[in-house]
Amino acid sequence: MLDSGIGSWPTRRARMTPGGRAFVQDDAVVTYAEVDRLVEAVARGLRARGVAAGDRVAFLGLNSIELAVTLFATARLGAVFLPLNTRLAPPELAWILTDAEPALLIHAVDFDEAVSAEPVAALGLPSHRFTEAGGRGLDALAVEPAGEEDRIDVEVGLDDVFMIQYTSGTSGRPKGVMLTHGNIAWNAFNLLVDVDVRSDEIALVTAPLFHTAALNQVLLPTFLKGGTSLIAARFDPAKAIATIERERVTLLFGVTSMYQALAQEPTWASADLDSLRSALSGGAPIPRTLLETWQARGLHIIQGYGLTEASPGTTMLRAGDGLDKLGSAGTPCFFTDVRVVATGAEETAPGQAGEVHVSGPNVTPGYWHDGAATDAAFDGPWLRTGDVAVLDDDGFLYVVDRVKDMFISGGENVFPAEVEQAVYTHPDVAEAAVIGVPDERWGEVGRAVVVRRPDSALTQTDLLKHLDGRLARYKIPKIVVFVDEIPHNASGKLSKSRVRELYGTPEGS
Ligand code: ATP
Repeated sequence: MLDSGIGSWPTRRARMTPGGRAFVQDDAVVTYAEVDRLVEAVARGLRARGVAAGDRVAFLGLNSIELAVTLFATARLGAVFLPLNTRLAPPELAWILTDAEPALLIHAVDFDEAVSAEPVAALGLPSHRFTEAGGRGLDALAVEPAGEEDRIDVEVGLDDVFMIQYTSGTSGRPKGVMLTHGNIAWNAFNLLVDVDVRSDEIALVTAPLFHTAALNQVLLPTFLKGGTSLIAARFDPAKAIATIERERVTLLFGVTSMYQALAQEPTWASADLDSLRSALSGGAPIPRTLLETWQARGLHIIQGYGLTEASPGTTMLRAGDGLDKLGSAGTPCFFTDVRVVATGAEETAPGQAGEVHVSGPNVTPGYWHDGAATDAAFDGPWLRTGDVAVLDDDGFLYVVDRVKDMFISGGENVFPAEVEQAVYTHPDVAEAAVIGVPDERWGEVGRAVVVRRPDSALTQTDLLKHLDGRLARYKIPKIVVFVDEIPHNASGKLSKSRVRELYGTPEGS
């Protein structure tokens, strides 16, 4: 008998839609029946390498069918999938590997260098190296079963840990978020209700799968419904547009910089993108101007708010929610509850800012190896998110900023995200980040770090003049630093901690 863990999903799908296309990557097409076969063989191979229930299996590689096969195989054994961020430097990888202590590290050949670099190599982890081959890249690890009756039979419960996802570390050291089979399943159920994922879904998976959104919001819900995931190793805006048009893609997830890049592609204006039913975004504030650019093209970006700890879906602005709510992160996902709490644990009145708390079956039981961080994160059943938001009269959530990014200028709280929204209204601004820097007179003042659009001659005076009247005086940055590029973390999110390191000294750079 099958248990209800995520490792059983391929078998359940194979018995329902065996010939359906589960994954497509370049020329490789893998059906649900094939996924189930590959998963079973790889699970047996992992077991032969000594992997048992509860052990961690680390995976380092770009988006691939092999990644999906490994995660289902690991789950089938009751072991824990540990997706590694491909953009991390060897010391950062070594830190996570030391913390998570995997029994095996599976890595793609493109990451030979990272794995053989000193701090990682010194750990002496058992490893398996593979070349991507449309799902068959793990054949050297796989052990074919003798027959149907010989299948892996491990009882996996919904409360067992399915995966440890390390947060992007935007606000400090990455934390290992434990997500159970139940957390991920309930998050997928939220998606099925909230964006109506369908059995004929064609999803484009182009954001990195080691990050919570592409995996949990796109690939897994699509798999659950029997749709097709088109897997792209990495994001390429021109290719993404061509794929959407050619394959009639219906579901897409992207972060702000991806939607920005798509809208700047020469082919964007003329391409037929009408098949796109659900263009999901989340993970960071999305500039209103960008939402409007897409809206003008007849495409509605569904903004979601979430965090790794909530698997990640927390709130969502659905397609039918109305243009007057543009800029909001919507209302709670179906099975998830949200409250906004001011200092002193009182729920706020509409319009009043407070910290977002989330509760529900998609919320993590806690951090790996870090009971103190887990205790600090929870208030009873409520997870404190560290994000500031307001609810409007209709219960729509507007994320203001992270508690940690707020700074105080002349005694007034300034939320950089609000300032950034105003900076983005200048047509010459391609990307912007605002941070607070020490100031003798005001305590702290804002500094805007800005990437200009190509060929723009925008100056500090122009931009500050533009902001005058749009923002209260104390919110207007005192200095604008023009740069070629703003640092992003491995999930493609603007990295405030890197921006602060580079541009946050009193004298600036
Ligand atoms: P770390 O916790 O290590 O700093 P991280 O917070 O970037 O990393 P993630 O779980 O990837 O880890 O991101 C979740 C955070 O992203 C949220 O807590 C919130 O600050 C931000 N975020 C997510 N969605 C939105 C949104 N729609 N609007 C504004 N901010 C968002």
